[in-house]
Amino acid sequence: MKLLIAAAEAAPFIKTGGLGDVIGALPKSLNQDKTVETRVILPYYRKIAEKFGGQIEDVFWTFIKVGWRHQYVGVKTLTLDGTIFYFIDNGDYFTDRDGIYGYADDGERFAFFQLAIMEVIERLDFVPDILHANDYHTALLPFLVKEKYSWIQAFSKIRTVLTIHNIEFQGQFDPGMLSELFGMGMERYEDGTVRLADCFNWLKAGILYADRVTTVSPTYANEIKTPEFGKGLDVILRMESAKLSGLINGIDTELYDPQTDPHLAAHFSVTDLKGKQVNKKTLQSLVGLPVRDDVPLIGIVSRLTYQKGFHLVVDEMINILKKDVQVVLLGTGDPKFEHDFTYFGQAYPEKFSANITFNLGLAQLIYAASDLFLMPSAFEPCGLSQMMSMRYGTLPIVHETGGLKDTVLPYNQFDGSGTGFSFENFSGYQLVQTTFEALDVYTNQPKAWKKLQEQAMTADFSWDTASLAYLKLYQELLTPEH
Ligand code: ADP
Repeated sequence: MKLLIAAAEAAPFIKTGGLGDVIGALPKSLNQDKTVETRVILPYYRKIAEKFGGQIEDVFWTFIKVGWRHQYVGVKTLTLDGTIFYFIDNGDYFTDRDGIYGYADDGERFAFFQLAIMEVIERLDFVPDILHANDYHTALLPFLVKEKYSWIQAFSKIRTVLTIHNIEFQGQFDPGMLSELFGMGMERYEDGTVRLADCFNWLKAGILYADRVTTVSPTYANEIKTPEFGKGLDVILRMESAKLSGLINGIDTELYDPQTDPHLAAHFSVTDLKGKQVNKKTLQSLVGLPVRDDVPLIGIVSRLTYQKGFHLVVDEMINILKKDVQVVLLGTGDPKFEHDFTYFGQAYPEKFSANITFNLGLAQLIYAASDLFLMPSAFEPCGLSQMMSMRYGTLPIVHETGGLKDTVLPYNQFDGSGTGFSFENFSGYQLVQTTFEALDVYTNQPKAWKKLQEQAMTADFSWDTASLAYLKLYQELLTPEH
C-alpha cells in the first residue's frame, strides 16, 4: 500500500503544536509494517531550509498553474528514520518568510501547496493508494482528487482520508478563490456543497469529499457532532457520521523518554524516580523559583488561548497561589494571557514563573520536573501534553473533554486507580477543587501518589499501538466494497 500523508507541519522539521508531533511520529510507526510504504509531503519553510537544508536533496523543479499565475515548484527530499519526506519549495510562499502561518495570503499559500502536491505525485512515481490530508491546510485534497483531477486515469483509484486535528481552524475563504487560484468553476459553491456562511470552506469540502474522516480521539469525534463543539460543521458531521471515527494519537515514546531525554538534568524511570527531584531543583533555579523539594510544583506548557482554558486559570490563579505551591508556565499566545501571566510572575516571584516563549528543551524539563501538569482545556481534540507529562511521572489535572477524557484516568481514592485528576464541569470552582484535591494527595498521601505516578508512567501512549487503528482504517478503505 502506498500512503502519502500531506500536512503543513511535521516534527522534527517544523512544529508549532500537536499536528507537527503527530505527522512526525505516525509515519515512523506505520513504516514498521512492511505492507505500507508511508511518505510525507510538507511545504519547504525557511526554518526547514536553515536547519536541514544541508541534508535535503533536490528531486526536480517545474512550474504549475495557480489560476492565471505560473508558479515555481521545487521538489526536495530527505529520508529520516526510514520515512521519505518530500518538500514543496517556493520562495514567495515559504522560504522568503520567517513564519509558518498567520499571513493574509495563507489561503493562496496552501492552495498552491495542495495544487503542487497533485501536480508532482505522478512525476515522483508515487501516486498513492491512500492520500491522507490533515487539517484545513490540506483538507481540499479530496475535493481536488474528485473534482479537478478526476480526468486523470492514474488518480481514479486514490482513496482519501481527512484527519481533523482541530475543527476551530476551517479555512474559510472568498469563493472567488475557486476560479482565481484553483482554476475551477463555481458549481460546487453555488450548489452549496463547499459553501458555509457565505465562504468557501475547505474543511467542509474535505469532510464531504474524503472517503473517511477521522479526528484524534473518540470523545472529540462525538463532541464535534454537537452544536457546542462543531463550530458550524456539526450538521455536516452528523450527516457524514458513518465515515467519521476518532483515533487517539500516540506520542513519540523514543523522543519523550525520561530515561534518555537529552534535555533533562538527570534521567529517571518508573523504578527509580530519584532523577525527577534533580530535574525539579534544576528547573526551579533555572526559572528563578526558590529551590525546594517539598513544595508541589505545577507545570503548564501550552498555547495560551481560550481553547486551552486559560480564562479559568487566570481567574483562579490567586486562589491556587494561596496554597504552598509553585507554578511554572511556558507558553505563548493571546497577548491578554501573556500579559496576565507576566503579572502573576511579577506579583508572586516566589511562587509563579512566567516564561512567555517557545522553547522545546524547557518544555521537556517542565514535563520531567513538575509534580502536576495543569491542562484545563475548554475543548481538546486529543492533546499530547497530558500524555507527555504522564510519561514523565507528572500527574495531569484536566477538564474531562475530548482526548483528555480518553487518556487521563481520574484518581479513585477507594481503589487507588488513576493516572491523574479531572473535573467534569468547566468551571473555576471545579478547577480549584480538583487542584486542591491533587495537592492534598501529593502532600498527605505519598503512597497513593507514587502508585498514581507508576500507573501514569506505564500507561501505553505509544504510536505503535495508536497507529494500528490507522492501519486498519487504510486497509478497510482498500477492500473491494470501497
Ligand atoms: P495543541 O496542538 O492544541 O497546541 P497539544 O497538546 O496537542 O496541543 O500539543 C502541543 C505541543 O506543543 C506539545 O508537544 C507541547 O509540548 C508543545 N508546546 C506548546 N507550547 C509550547 C512552548 N511554548 N514551548 C515548547 N513547546 C510547546
